[in-house]
Amino acid sequence: MALTGLQIFKLLPKTNCKECGMPTCLAFAMALAQKKAKLEDCPHASEEAKAALAEAAAPPICQVKFGAAEAEVQVGQETVMFRHEEKFYNPTVMAVSVSDKLTGDDLKKRIEEINDLQFDRVGQRIQVKAIAVMNESGSAESFAAAAAAVKENSPLAMILYSDSVEALAAAAGPVAQAKPLLGVAQAETAEAAAKIAKDHNCPLIAQAESIEDLAELTEMIKAAGVEDIVLSLKRPALKGHLYNLSQIRAVALKKNFRPLGYPTISCVLEGGPAEQSAEALSMICKYSSIVVVETVQKWAILPLLTAIMNIFTDPQKPVQVEAKVYAIGEPDENSPLLFTTNFSLTYYTVESDVEASRVPSYILVVDTEGTSVLTAYSGDKLNEKVVAEAMKKNEVDKLVKHKKLIIPGYVAVMSGKLEEETGWEILVGPRECSVLPKFLQEVA
Ligand code: SF4
Repeated sequence: MALTGLQIFKLLPKTNCKECGMPTCLAFAMALAQKKAKLEDCPHASEEAKAALAEAAAPPICQVKFGAAEAEVQVGQETVMFRHEEKFYNPTVMAVSVSDKLTGDDLKKRIEEINDLQFDRVGQRIQVKAIAVMNESGSAESFAAAAAAVKENSPLAMILYSDSVEALAAAAGPVAQAKPLLGVAQAETAEAAAKIAKDHNCPLIAQAESIEDLAELTEMIKAAGVEDIVLSLKRPALKGHLYNLSQIRAVALKKNFRPLGYPTISCVLEGGPAEQSAEALSMICKYSSIVVVETVQKWAILPLLTAIMNIFTDPQKPVQVEAKVYAIGEPDENSPLLFTTNFSLTYYTVESDVEASRVPSYILVVDTEGTSVLTAYSGDKLNEKVVAEAMKKNEVDKLVKHKKLIIPGYVAVMSGKLEEETGWEILVGPRECSVLPKFLQEVA
């Protein structure tokens, strides 16, 4: 639990020596509480103060990393129950399972299908980030062979998932450099599984039937020397599972209950692609740090990645694109010129419809602090002066010779004033972007 300024002050030397750059120890304590200073700036802080502050500064949910180099992913370290309270930090890692019953070309094909689960959306790359190798064969050799094949054929992070510590030991050693997430450690296998994780410096999944058992299990694993733990509950029906995940999050955040202060993993391996997608989506919302599905259907995966992208966007910072002129295709001085706002979803929607028209065009993006057309207009962030200023700043009169500007249909009301302000002819575009291709083909 974070300490207040006064609690921190009590731990400081109270000499007001100013060596930290602050006029008093109290001022330094207040700055420290607001995370505007670092304890290292006070050369006189006692070991006791350092230990107390380090403990207080530790996040209520630990951060766990797995995967090596560019494949590395991080989960956990969340600080709030609800996104609007602050923001969520580490996006849910989507993983897809690979059965170790597969061999040869079938195994390679499956790995390639998973590698290929990546998409471009509103200017960002979103993708499945991990492959979970499932020990369904019951054989340690098959498990190890599948893990080796994933390491060789995939750039993604790896999860090794087996009830058997023998299988885990056989698979983990040869792929340890890839820093896989190992699992699962249960009460009866905790010590042996923890030893494997510790030997290979890999994080470990702790799995139990109930939240209470899970808390005891993580203490056992921690005592065995493994700090990086991911929680897994044997799954009851969806409703119960979501309740348990919410309980774990609440206890970790609100009670600062360290034995449950870890990220979580959920598996959705049964049912058709649509069913898996729906269940996985619930778990992304509340509150799985890692979700493993079995389907490789792109139409089932894309909505999950889109949801993750949206949920883990800082709600206080609209996603923006740079305010400038974008050339779509190879426009020339006769090409249409449109304007829109710098809210990323608005821009990329317009961009894709302009592309679909196959009419080379210019899009002038006006800075409206990342708000959409109607929101910006209602808040007076978008008016004739703002657009005229953007046109001037971007020298659009040097790009096109026709002096015609296409404006979004939703702000048709500003056409008169904009015409007066700029001296340009204003063409009112469609209200719905989907009509834009037809509109551009007609005006071009
Ligand atoms: S350096 Fe330490 S002891 Fe000196 S004023 Fe700052 S907080 Fe107080």
